[in-house]
Amino acid sequence: MREAQDLLKCERCAVYLLDLECCEASHLERIVERPGKVIERQGPLNRMQSDTVSPEDMRESGLRTPCTFTTIFELRAPGTQTLVSRPSQFDLKTSTLAQIAGYAAATGQILNIGDVAAWLNEQHSEGVAQLINKTNGTPFTDCDVSLFEAFAIFCGLGIHNTQMYENACKLMAKQKVALECLSYHATASNDVTVKLAKEDIPSAECYNLYSFSFIDFELNDGDTCKATIRMFLELNLVQEYHIPYEVLCRWVLSVKKNYRPVKYHNWRHALNVAQTMFAMFKTGKMERFMTELEILGLLVACLCHDLDHRGTNNAFQTKTDSPLAVLYSTSTMEHHHFDQCVMILNTDSNNIFQALSPEDYRKVMKIVESAILSTDLAMYFKRI
Ligand SMILES: [Zn+2]
Repeated sequence: MREAQDLLKCERCAVYLLDLECCEASHLERIVERPGKVIERQGPLNRMQSDTVSPEDMRESGLRTPCTFTTIFELRAPGTQTLVSRPSQFDLKTSTLAQIAGYAAATGQILNIGDVAAWLNEQHSEGVAQLINKTNGTPFTDCDVSLFEAFAIFCGLGIHNTQMYENACKLMAKQKVALECLSYHATASNDVTVKLAKEDIPSAECYNLYSFSFIDFELNDGDTCKATIRMFLELNLVQEYHIPYEVLCRWVLSVKKNYRPVKYHNWRHALNVAQTMFAMFKTGKMERFMTELEILGLLVACLCHDLDHRGTNNAFQTKTDSPLAVLYSTSTMEHHHFDQCVMILNTDSNNIFQALSPEDYRKVMKIVESAILSTDLAMYFKRI
């Protein structure tokens, strides 16, 4: 804007932002005063037929469609501060500058006024939507008007981009609020957590965890959580990675809570997958080919791999144009399962990885991510 002001060689330069709610700009009335300078009288207007507009037209138009500007950006002489103000409805009504801006906004006309004070019959002391007083005291020429048009386009683009950016920021804030709300409700309650943390965890044999013929039918919901905790204990993960016991309990309960009661891809399916992984580690002796971190990552991935499954597949998401499909065009649901897993881990009270070093944390998250994304069978069949 500063460059544009220099280019057009005018003393002041203001941009009015058209909009809905308004608010204060008493400084408007001071804009046009040029102490110590006498402007040569001339024909009121140069180009663009602005001479057909009289102050009366402008006032009438203002009454019909009152101007609604939210913000005014105003540049003055070099070295002085740029003013950004939010005018009130009263300011806009009483300011001639704002009225002219409003007229230009309503009619789309470019006004090139020789001497605003004269034009207004010296009733008011100011005018103009954007450019005020050429520095050399001469009136604006056709060339200035052309330049000004280019400037207006430039301003328009800039303002449009700014507004888009502001909207994007607002949407991001909105999303953040929604996420905060979601993670609050996604977390298991304290009472249930404390209760589970106090209870004894039956042995692995009791739940038949080492066997490939494990069956969850006889376990009640509380037992499914205890069986999960037992697997963490058997694999020595709680001790190795200093997982606070209460955090582990809350995390298991939260994961369980974030499974929907669908026919197949529910919490019990997750438990069965995790138990099969556990039996492969222990009974299948796969444990020795894995690092501790990989074991931790895989067990967490098994438990989280179908989080928030809606009982519909990726093709359904794509065909129904669901927001999830817009977000992820491939492996739609798998990305969502991983996102939910991260969302749960993101609250401190659920973060079972909190004692990990940043390096280990990064590694384990990578393992969880690639394991969950690999559960997209479409990707699996592509590889064979
Ligand atoms: Zn699954």
